[in-house]
Amino acid sequence: MEQINKIARMQERAIQIHKKGLTIGLVPTMGYLHDGHLSLMREARRETDCVVVSIFVNPIQFGPSEDFAKYPRDIERDIGLAEQSGVDIIFNPAAKDMYPLRFRTIVDVPGLNNILCSANRPGHFQGVATVVCKLFNIVRPDFAYFGQKDAQQAVIIKRMAEDLNMGIRIRVLPIVREKDGLAMSSRNIYLSQQERRAALCLYNALKLAEKLALAGEKETRFITNQVEALIKSEPLAKLEYAAICNPVDLSYMETIEGEALLALAVKIGSTRLIDNTILKTI
Ligand code: AMP
Repeated sequence: MEQINKIARMQERAIQIHKKGLTIGLVPTMGYLHDGHLSLMREARRETDCVVVSIFVNPIQFGPSEDFAKYPRDIERDIGLAEQSGVDIIFNPAAKDMYPLRFRTIVDVPGLNNILCSANRPGHFQGVATVVCKLFNIVRPDFAYFGQKDAQQAVIIKRMAEDLNMGIRIRVLPIVREKDGLAMSSRNIYLSQQERRAALCLYNALKLAEKLALAGEKETRFITNQVEALIKSEPLAKLEYAAICNPVDLSYMETIEGEALLALAVKIGSTRLIDNTILKTI
């Protein structure tokens, strides 16, 4: 496995790979890899000739009071896991190279970033869209792999890639969970034992909503009320939002027609967790 940290070198390698007629699959991550990330790498390995994993904790997607400084990092462990997953290139650029002092451009996808997570994380999705656009321009992938875990991010990236005619196929893969249902996340490491148990309320709330929808409940207000009540019954949990929206464009839904996205953001102690599911009615 090759490790590259210079942007120009990565661009050069991408050109060489394409010249050989090979395809590139990119898995963008912030590192501290877990099975959720590895599932994206395995799919990229299956579908493309050269798998590139980027590891970059992107400073511009963190708010001033968020966890950028303490975000977990372990590049040596990540290199080992990526190698075992059949990754060809790890791209691990320095923040000062990604954002030199003269840097100005921001990618914005309005309409999709003023709902769900955006209210509590202003500027977050501009930061995400900007770094992913930069990574696309550096790595020149044919395919790029994202997790449904970050449902809003996936919708925004798909819109950006289509609107800007990037010609990159965006794949969105299912949420990988711990045995008890907690969605895997690099941030789970922040949870104390007691918080780890409390964090299950997200999964339990999603399951409750799925059951209600399958039993024929279509009123989104009714379902979110039940979800909110379940989360509020957990003393360590503080609900940020529980919202049901259209999975394609994130528009608000009053009643569920076909499929709907239920997205949750909950603080467990000081750790902010997100999770979601697709609700299907009969
Ligand atoms: P992150 O390192 O948290 O920025 O995540 C990098 C990519 O992995 C994103 O596309 C995430 O949606 C995806 N991802 C994170 N957690 C999971 C999970 N539990 N299951 C599937 N994909 C995930």
